Amino acid sequence: MTRIAFIGLGNMGGPMAANLAKAGHAVRAFDLNTDAIAPVVQAGATAAASAADAVVEAEVVISMLPASRHVEGLYLGDDGLMATLPAGALVIDCSTIAPASAQKVAAAAQARGLQMIDAPVSGGTAGAQAGTLTFIVGGSADALERARPVLEAMGKNIFHMGEAGAGQVAKLCNNMALGVIMAATGEAIALGAAHGLDPKVLSQMMAVSTSRSWATEVCNPWPGVLENAPASRGYTGGFGNDLMLKDLGLAAEAAMGTGAAVPLGELARNLYAMNSQAGNGGLDFSSVVTLLQRR
Ligand code: NAD
Repeated sequence: MTRIAFIGLGNMGGPMAANLAKAGHAVRAFDLNTDAIAPVVQAGATAAASAADAVVEAEVVISMLPASRHVEGLYLGDDGLMATLPAGALVIDCSTIAPASAQKVAAAAQARGLQMIDAPVSGGTAGAQAGTLTFIVGGSADALERARPVLEAMGKNIFHMGEAGAGQVAKLCNNMALGVIMAATGEAIALGAAHGLDPKVLSQMMAVSTSRSWATEVCNPWPGVLENAPASRGYTGGFGNDLMLKDLGLAAEAAMGTGAAVPLGELARNLYAMNSQAGNGGLDFSSVVTLLQRR
């Protein structure tokens, strides 16, 4: 049993914190949105009144926040948690943020004599609920070994990518490929549909052929092809278009930092920006196909 502070109980953090409580850990949970705390308390966690209150006596501190500014705001600055974290606490940030931000916060932890890893996740809200997430980790091997039993209560795959920030770089590589593949899959199905093909049969063929992917088999962007995909419930739930847009922006920034060429990633970023401008920012990112469907 580990004393864990969990901060950020949204679509991902809520079920992750609930799984830790169900596994028998003593979880003190906090979110700025008080409505998000109740389901986690129902799973056995204790509600904290603030982030500072959550970390009192914590052995492990986990954050799952939207973007870099939220993570830097939580840990850094005069009011930041880094000043008050208990000695010896291990910090695990699971948010998807800029690699440079992850390194900045990890350096502040190191200056306090604390270990920290960046551990962004893959697997979506279904993986968060089922406890089958993939953790993509940056930080020391030693810190990862301390974190491992806690991560294993929330996921089934753990990859150590390198030092601080490396987990974020790898996560951005994954999501850049995902963003491109989803748009390409939608474009292909739209072409077939425009020629009168049945999108369901077309998808079934693609799922066992050379273009097979998660976008075809699990999160198919065409409504009605897969009953459980966001596309079949008005693109609700799932991974928000604007979160994908954020990740593709981070990938573009990371590419500029090294001079890497990411032409398809940039094209995809513009498609998700157009989808956001079309009013679909809050919908699942597979709604990008609606830009390509023939009206
Ligand atoms: P979300 O918007 O549902 O949840 C974020 C939560 O953080 C909200 O409840 C918000 O109130 C809370 N919050 C923000 N600032 C806070 C603060 N200072 N203190 C306490 N709480 C604060 O987002 P999400 O879908 O849970 O995603 C979280 C992160 O995980 C993002 O970085 C996202 O890119 C990444 N991610 C999401 C998915 C997915 O499928 N949704 C998959 C993999 C990774």
